Amino acid sequence: MTRHYNFCAGPAALPTAVLERAREEMLDYQGRGLSVMEMSHRSDEYVAIAEKAEADLRELLNVPSNYRILFTQGGATQQFAAVPWNLLGPGGTANFIETGIWGKKAIQEARHLFGAAHVAASSAESGHVAVPRQQDIALSSDAAYLHFTPNETIGGLAFDYLPHTQREDGIEVPLVADLSSSILSAPLDVSRYGVIYAGAQKNIGPAGLVVVIVREDLLDRARDDMPTLFSYRQLAEAGSMINTPATYSWYLAGLVFDWLKNDVGGLDAMDAINQRKSDKLYAAIDGSALYSNPIAPINRSRMNVPFVLADSRLDSDFLVEAEQAGLLNLKGHRSVGGMRASIYNAVPEAAVDALVAFMNDFEQRRG
Ligand code: PMP
Repeated sequence: MTRHYNFCAGPAALPTAVLERAREEMLDYQGRGLSVMEMSHRSDEYVAIAEKAEADLRELLNVPSNYRILFTQGGATQQFAAVPWNLLGPGGTANFIETGIWGKKAIQEARHLFGAAHVAASSAESGHVAVPRQQDIALSSDAAYLHFTPNETIGGLAFDYLPHTQREDGIEVPLVADLSSSILSAPLDVSRYGVIYAGAQKNIGPAGLVVVIVREDLLDRARDDMPTLFSYRQLAEAGSMINTPATYSWYLAGLVFDWLKNDVGGLDAMDAINQRKSDKLYAAIDGSALYSNPIAPINRSRMNVPFVLADSRLDSDFLVEAEQAGLLNLKGHRSVGGMRASIYNAVPEAAVDALVAFMNDFEQRRG
């Protein structure tokens, strides 16, 4: 069996140790004589799995006790609708910082559902190569919350600071973050956020699961006229089991949390590894005449590293040869072209070393 290095943006690589454990437990979960996939979500065995996953995530991210953790479905895209439904309240407007394609989709969904969305700042004019600075963020006077995307997965653009959310009248509104592509890559001060959400299929586990972390006092803002499954309050009251949750994805997420805690040694250790991995890759890009990345150095993503070749006629050869070398899924997003290496938590440092060696070799032969 060979496992290649997988640089896919999502669904992304999972830690081999996690997959091995899932394989061991596949047919007969801890002597119960059945697979986790076949368990009732209301059974004692499954509830124990679900509760351990939540407790481990709470410990990893140091989630304060006045925050609820929800395990829900519908992808991060569903949260583009769930957030305004849960947080807008009467009369308020959703505010956004737009730094790329995912933030834009969140804006479009809020507009679609509520007719209005205020773009408090945008990096669109610069072509999304640097995030707006704090002084460029202009909240509307009726802002209900400020939504941003700390790591834009397609552009490879990441915030280097946490935006302040004070309106002109002095009221501080909740900060909402789509952390789909950077959650668990480094420690996080959850207390600075009102809502955090993340699709699982990058740093958490398989697709089909979304983690939402919401400050308890915000649960009361939920509208009464929204679909039950979108309601943070109802999900919290039901322990995320209003209906059948994504049981197997939740279980695998639990194995990933366990791996992060016990194999990696927590988020400080993960942070240091991620820093080394991304430093190596950007150094290779910057030191080359063939590859380039346009993002302002302080806003370069440590998870998603897009780059282009000086001569795009070499793109297809680069991808074919990379695949032959066991380096998978380096093609950039269809909307931007070029290459993108997603180097999430489960992509080992050895994968980055192999990619850098391949890039250097390709440049020497073809550049
Ligand atoms: N937000 C971000 C930052 C993403 O990277 C993605 C997926 N790549 C999404 C939202 C959409 O996620 P999903 O496909 O789970 O709806």
